[in-house]
Amino acid sequence: MHEMTIAQSLINAVRAHAKRRQGERIVAVGLRLGELSGVDAEALKFGFDSLIKGTDLDPLELQIEHAPHRHRCPTCDREFDVIDYDVSCPQCGTSQTESISGDEIEIIYLEVED
Ligand SMILES: [Zn+2]
Repeated sequence: MHEMTIAQSLINAVRAHAKRRQGERIVAVGLRLGELSGVDAEALKFGFDSLIKGTDLDPLELQIEHAPHRHRCPTCDREFDVIDYDVSCPQCGTSQTESISGDEIEIIYLEVED
């Protein structure tokens, strides 16, 4: 299961951080998930929770922020959401646009207990 592998690598990253910053208690991890990443957020949360449960990291909350598929037009510099895989620029019509977000799976923050 793809999501289980991602959940495990997230936990590894949190552990690595906790090791460097001894004494800090991490209570939440924020993840940015692109809509093209192919990851099922619910399955990821489920896998994450089941891996955390009963360990020294428990409780640790996974907070998922969804990133839309966005492109930028190099001709007129317009940035826009891609809907139904239509990558042409809504302003000038060129289809030569570049992807700027949508396939990321990245940790954006770790929340530490005060
Ligand atoms: Zn354009």
